[in-house]
Amino acid sequence: PELINQIAAGEVIERPSSVVKELVENSLDAGAARIEVDIEFGGARLIRIRDDGDGIAAEDLPLAVASHATSKIGSFDDLEHVASMGFRGEALASMASVARFAMTSRLRGADNAFRLEVDSGRMQDVRPAQHPQGTSVEVRDLFYNVPARRKFLRAERTEFAHIDDLLKSLALARSSVEFRLSHNGKSVRVWKAARDEKSMLTRVAEVLGESFPQQSLRIDHASAGMRLSGWVGLPTASRSQADAQYFYVNGRLVRDRVVAHAVRQAYADVLFHGRHPAFVLYLELDPAGVDVNVHPAKSEVRFREQRLVHDFLFRTLHEALAETRA
Ligand code: ADP
Ligand code: MG
Repeated sequence: PELINQIAAGEVIERPSSVVKELVENSLDAGAARIEVDIEFGGARLIRIRDDGDGIAAEDLPLAVASHATSKIGSFDDLEHVASMGFRGEALASMASVARFAMTSRLRGADNAFRLEVDSGRMQDVRPAQHPQGTSVEVRDLFYNVPARRKFLRAERTEFAHIDDLLKSLALARSSVEFRLSHNGKSVRVWKAARDEKSMLTRVAEVLGESFPQQSLRIDHASAGMRLSGWVGLPTASRSQADAQYFYVNGRLVRDRVVAHAVRQAYADVLFHGRHPAFVLYLELDPAGVDVNVHPAKSEVRFREQRLVHDFLFRTLHEALAETRA
């Protein structure tokens, strides 16, 4: 089973930022209001995530780390309506097979915390520990036992940049959650919970640049059971901001052909000087209308009604952008 986990790990865990992604998604699924990410040496030495979420019962710790154990999907049917970020139940098992792993947690309302360590693929006994309500996961020496993968880790600052980018995209996805990021003991980002439109815009400006709020258009439109909200860079924006394209489907950052095409078409019609318009857009629709179980990294989706989604996006954006030209 160890080898199988290591092979499966190759799909989910490509580099330190993939570990961070899975762990932060778990914290979000656990209802955390505050998530702290501590990184050492680009994540190659240490990735530690602490949250103040629901926590895990002592007896469930070994289960959480076992492969294909998820508490989020009860039946095949549930797969059709995935609302949580995770559902495959393989992330922790994968990490534990390619790193030195520890998970400490105190269940909401419990008096004590417990810790489970996995070393060289062997699960140790669950022991009492100190921890406030919530969960901490430590992933040390990533790929220490898979030299071929360890070799492919990039320079410290490159790996950290991937983590920072990821945190930005998560910070935009969940504005009501406080995020903190540190590298080698130094605080790098502090995003306080944004509770209103104004503080949300502050967070957007921190990620997309100070000028973005003034050079963008607020979008908020609902029809046909879908809602599109967020900000799109104005066609007249002086500077193009490549890589500043964030599109979320039900809170999940996705890269999707249908979406990309609709956005491109909407901009193509109105004069646009930059090559890459910047945007932060949130599409919400019935989870049954979108399949997220396409790729292990869950960054791809498949819409049940592609045409409908495409046209809704195109029309909404086109109308908003065309107005700015008038
Ligand atoms: P998945 O997220 O797909 O269910 P994971 O391997 O990521 O699978 O996690 C396995 C299980 O461990 C989760 O279903 C959840 O029950 C538990 N778990 C993981 N991280 C946390 C956390 N931060 N807080 C509470 N429970 C957690
Ligand atoms: Mg998960």
